[in-house]
Amino acid sequence: MPGSRVAIIGAGPTGLDAALACLERGLRPTVYETASQPAASVRDWGHVRLFTPWQMNVSQRMRRALAAAGEEAPMGRGLPTGPELADRLLDPVARLPQVAPALRLGTRVKAVGRRGLTKEQEIGTAERARRPFRLLVEGPEGERVEEADAVLDCAGVWGNPNSLGDGGIPAPGEEALDHRIERRLPAFADEWHEWAGRTILLVGEGHSAQTAARDLAALAADAPGTRVTWAVRSHTPDWEAVEDDPLPERSALVADAERLRGGASAAVDVRLGSAVDGLSERAGRVVVTLRNGDAQGVEVDRVLSLTGSVGDHRLYRQLQVHECYATCGPMSLSAALLGSGAADCLEQESHGVDALRLPEPNFFILGSKSHGRYGLYLMRIGYEQVDDVMGVLAGP
Ligand SMILES: Cc1cc2nc3c(=O)[nH]c(=O)nc-3n(C[C@H](O)[C@H](O)[C@H](O)COP(=O)(O)OP(=O)(O)OC[C@H]3O[C@@H](n4cnc5c(N)ncnc54)[C@H](O)[C@@H]3O)c2cc1C
Repeated sequence: MPGSRVAIIGAGPTGLDAALACLERGLRPTVYETASQPAASVRDWGHVRLFTPWQMNVSQRMRRALAAAGEEAPMGRGLPTGPELADRLLDPVARLPQVAPALRLGTRVKAVGRRGLTKEQEIGTAERARRPFRLLVEGPEGERVEEADAVLDCAGVWGNPNSLGDGGIPAPGEEALDHRIERRLPAFADEWHEWAGRTILLVGEGHSAQTAARDLAALAADAPGTRVTWAVRSHTPDWEAVEDDPLPERSALVADAERLRGGASAAVDVRLGSAVDGLSERAGRVVVTLRNGDAQGVEVDRVLSLTGSVGDHRLYRQLQVHECYATCGPMSLSAALLGSGAADCLEQESHGVDALRLPEPNFFILGSKSHGRYGLYLMRIGYEQVDDVMGVLAGP
């Protein structure tokens, strides 16, 4: 309905595109962003280049809105880094005069509920839609409650990394040593002195861990004494390779990971089939128990854990959300994704609004949080989902 208040959680690519879509349709968006700047997650990847070129990363809505303001959105086949995506696309969108007043930076959404109803009341009835959402938010002035007629959860997964213990639960000692564990992909060139000459445990085997391993091998070539133990859970990792990969950067990364596995760098010791069984501290260093058949102690200066992430579902604990048991995304979407048989995210599509519907009316999970490990990893899908839900929120 025009004039409806739409709370958007997260000012990443999906949240900002959703704000533009709401404004185009006469809805009133408020975008809550926990960081002090928009696009906090993509900025966090540092130097990592996207696999997809500009033309796949800019939504039509963003292009239109920027053009109307006399700005040109980036185009072409260049591959931006995360910060370039933020600087050249997402910041300009966030600065648009119609978007900027809707942004609440430095404001985290802590919980979402319905006025006067808990999770187990009015199960699947229309009554829930008659009550506004209540959002507990925390900003520079402290906590407050704000209301909305619809909520779009575009919070992504990046801020909720998995633990590094076997099975994704914390290894004994991990929580106590959290301050010693780096869980984001560092820009090693900018942090040279923090990594050069150190002994490092790297945990994980996805594209982020592969990128870190490749970068650390390059760093070690220039910084004698740098030693990396790379703990890879699988005995036979496929490195998430895609057959006949149309994205050359991604296939090059996989090839580099395979070369490292084959012993390409004397500084990187790849331990296949290894799990972390415990961490403790001794004389300023971290002692890690690695299990690979036997338990072995490895003493390191630094621990880098890149073991994936999963969406935070505590946010909507009091709502009626039928979530996927594997991803925290909407169950219907996960079923559609699994059933589609697509081998790669590039072959995927948004699957329409019915795949996004939840028992809780007017609450939608969009963007990377909606598909998690089903590996869409594409901004384009988030933009398509925004189109899908606009039909419900604003009418056809
Ligand atoms: C290393 C890497 C490489 C990638 N390469 C590509 C690629 O080549 N092409 C591609 O299309 N995609 C790529 N992706 C995926 C891409 O990052 C996502 O598709 C995209 O960022 C999804 O945007 P989003 O808005 O859904 O989530 P995010 O970008 O994660 O944004 C979520 C925002 O919500 C904020 N937030 C979180 N919780 C709260 C809260 N409770 N309250 C308020 N704010 C909150 C966060 O601070 C963040 O700003 C890559 C991802 C990674 C990690």
